[in-house]
Amino acid sequence: MQKATSPLQSYERIVIKIGSALLVDPDDGLRQQWLDALCRDIADLRKAGCDVMIVSSGAIALGRTVMRHTTLGTAKGSLRLEESQAAAAVGQIALAKAWSQALSQQQLIAGQILLTLADTKERRRYLNARATVGQLLMAGAVPIINENDTVATSEIRYGDNDRLAARVASMIGADLLVLLSDVDGLYTAPPKDNADAKFLHRIADITPQIEAMAGDAGSELSRGGMKTKVEAARIATKAGCAMIIASGKQDHPLDLINSGARHSLFEPGTSPVTARKKWIAGQLEAAGKFLIDPGAQRALETGKSLLPAGVKQIFGSFRRGDTVAICTLEGEEIARGLAAYDSEEAELIAGCKSSEIVAILGYSGRTAMVHRDDMVITGVRRDELQTKQRETM
Ligand code: GLU
Repeated sequence: MQKATSPLQSYERIVIKIGSALLVDPDDGLRQQWLDALCRDIADLRKAGCDVMIVSSGAIALGRTVMRHTTLGTAKGSLRLEESQAAAAVGQIALAKAWSQALSQQQLIAGQILLTLADTKERRRYLNARATVGQLLMAGAVPIINENDTVATSEIRYGDNDRLAARVASMIGADLLVLLSDVDGLYTAPPKDNADAKFLHRIADITPQIEAMAGDAGSELSRGGMKTKVEAARIATKAGCAMIIASGKQDHPLDLINSGARHSLFEPGTSPVTARKKWIAGQLEAAGKFLIDPGAQRALETGKSLLPAGVKQIFGSFRRGDTVAICTLEGEEIARGLAAYDSEEAELIAGCKSSEIVAILGYSGRTAMVHRDDMVITGVRRDELQTKQRETM
């Protein structure tokens, strides 16, 4: 194939997320030829000096094909949670072997990492996972990452690898995330039902309009629909990482992007953020919610801390240091941060002046309810980041 200019090779650290449908054919199992071709693209990126990490879906789909002669293989339609976990247990072994063998043909070493939501949520575990991935990259290996599907239950799982890949990208300081699936990019409306849907080549900002284009969670039939892709873009771009949505249907999908195949590019956020803030921005679940008045909102937007006086209402039960969503009085989220007080104390001092804290709590606590160093402005977010769990494999 003729190689044109190579936009991918101008990035230093690339996370590539592979959707299940690309790797696994429900009837024939692993799509070996496709995987081999992809690994040649990966080897090219490595030769050009890029660090490459793979977030690979496919454990459940592959497990179903391996178990085709068992009750799990013959089950029609979606699997129940425990069935998909059993399929993942079988499929993950096959998946890791397939990656390891295909990469070794390119003289590359694969290292498997299975993550749970808690590994990116709890800061200590997050730093630990980051160190492991960092070591693999330093040694020149290619980390192959998936969710630890076999044990994660609905409350403690991502459920989709789009957002997992975005968290990994932000965690490891990647400058590009590529989501390869069977869709080639973002359209102004679902192209299947709208003949005049327009393709978006570049997205500079994830506005409410862009979110609306992704549709509702409920309208997506499979995990990792356009909604989770746009959520992934929000996480990645906030962390200063660009994101590409491209089709992986053809062999050599990365090479094809390099030679001009159509794709949507989400531009990275420009303001430099600290590692701590990246972590806060990527927290999927907030333990509590603060409704704040317009004055406090303006203060936050100019980089100030959230003082107790501006907090009108508090929801949820949280401990000091837990993530809280900071919302307008209408409930629209504008920031995320770490609470400086437990919820019981926060309720007592909400609406009060900072100078009154000592009289109310009996000790002189922190002046701010959420300190600006522990806060990230996330912009208006209409819905919770955590999408409903979908079991549609
Ligand atoms: N972790 C799931 C698997 O390997 C895939 C999740 C997704 O499709 O995004 O099968």
